[in-house]
Amino acid sequence: MSTKRDYYEILGAKKNATLEEVKTAYRGLALKYHPDRVPAEQKKEAEEKFKEISEAYAVLSDANKRALYDQYGHSGIDQKYAYEDIFKGADFSSVFQDMSDSGFGGGLFDEIFSDLGFDIFGGRGRSRSSRSRRGRDLEVAVAITLEEAAAGTEKTINLPRYDTCSTCSGSGAKPGSKKSTCPQCKGSGRTVVSNGFFQLAQACSRCRGEGSIIQAPCPSCRGEGRSRVTHKIKVKIPAGVDSGSHLRVRSEGEAGTAGRGDLYVNIEVEKHDVFERHNNDISTEIKISLVKAILGAETEVPTLEGRVKMKIPAGTQSGRVFRLKEKGIPDVYGHGKGDELVRVEVEIPQNLNVKQRQLIEEFARASGEGLDKESFSDKIKKAFK
Ligand SMILES: [Zn+2]
Ligand SMILES: [Zn+2]
Repeated sequence: MSTKRDYYEILGAKKNATLEEVKTAYRGLALKYHPDRVPAEQKKEAEEKFKEISEAYAVLSDANKRALYDQYGHSGIDQKYAYEDIFKGADFSSVFQDMSDSGFGGGLFDEIFSDLGFDIFGGRGRSRSSRSRRGRDLEVAVAITLEEAAAGTEKTINLPRYDTCSTCSGSGAKPGSKKSTCPQCKGSGRTVVSNGFFQLAQACSRCRGEGSIIQAPCPSCRGEGRSRVTHKIKVKIPAGVDSGSHLRVRSEGEAGTAGRGDLYVNIEVEKHDVFERHNNDISTEIKISLVKAILGAETEVPTLEGRVKMKIPAGTQSGRVFRLKEKGIPDVYGHGKGDELVRVEVEIPQNLNVKQRQLIEEFARASGEGLDKESFSDKIKKAFK
C-alpha cells in the first residue's frame, strides 16, 4: 500500500478544481516552501515539501495523468511512470512566469529541480545530464560441484543482455542517414522560458533533451540504439567458494551511456553424495570389518582428490573419527586448507557359517565369557537387537 499522501490534499485543491485553480494552489505553496524563505534548519524539510507539491502539481495539471490518478490512485501513476517521468511534460514555466513580482530569483529552484531531473538555470549553466547513466547490474546463478568448489573452475555463462547496437553503434540512426538538429529546440536540448528575471528550462519534449532527432531509425534496433544479445561470458570461480558466495564481474552488466553495470554471479554448491561440507572441512563415513577394527589394518578412504590409504589402529571403536590433514577445501582468502574428517563404523558380521561360529565361540571361551546358560550366538543376537 502506498504511504503517499493524496495529491489533492497536498495541494489543498478540490477534486473538481480547474487547471487554473491547481496552478494557483501550487504557486502559493511553491512560494511558501521556497528554501530561501525558510530558516536554515528547515531548509531540508522545505525541499522535501517542494518535491511533494511539485509531484502533485505535475500529475494534477496533466489531463491524462490526472484521469489515471482519479481512477486508480497512486498505484495507477507509479505503475505507469518512473519517478522522473511523472514530471515529464509538466508545465512549470507558466506557473513561474510572473514570479519576478514575488521578488525572488531562480537560483534555488535550480538545485531543487535538478534533483527532480529537470534543468533550470539562472545563469549557472546546466546541471548534470539525466541521460548519462551507467547500465544496470545483472545477476546470474551458477551451480557447481563440491569438487569444482574445492579446486576452482571456469564457467561459461550464457547471458542475455542489452548491448550497444552493432549496426548503428548506439546512435539509433540507420547507417548512412544522419541525425538532424532538433527543429523545436534548435539543438540545445532545452525549451527555455525567460521572463527577464530568471530563466527556466525543461528538457525539449521533441528530442527528449538530445538536441538532435533521427531521420531514419536503425533497422536492427528500431532506433533504440541497443539490442538484446546473448553473450558467452567466461567466469573464473576461485577455489574455496561456498553456496551464497557472490562474485562480481566488473563491467559485464547492461550497457548504459556512462558505461556498463556489473555482473553478479551467485554461487550454489551442489550437494555431494559422499561428502558433507562444514565451512572448509569436509566429512565422510566409511565401514570397516570387525577383524580390521580388532587387529588394525590399512584401508582406502575417498577424498576430493581420489582414494588414499589410511591406517586403522588395532582396537578401533565404532564411531571413532580420524582427521586427514588438509584434505578439505582451501580457504577462499588463501588462509590454508580445511581437513577431512573420516568417521569409522565397524561392521558386525551377520549370518556366520559353522566354522566362523565355532571360532567365535572359542574366542569367547578364551576371553573367559561363560556360554553355559545361553549360546554365544544367542547373546550376540540379543546384544544387537
Ligand atoms: Zn541500431
Ligand atoms: Zn529538441
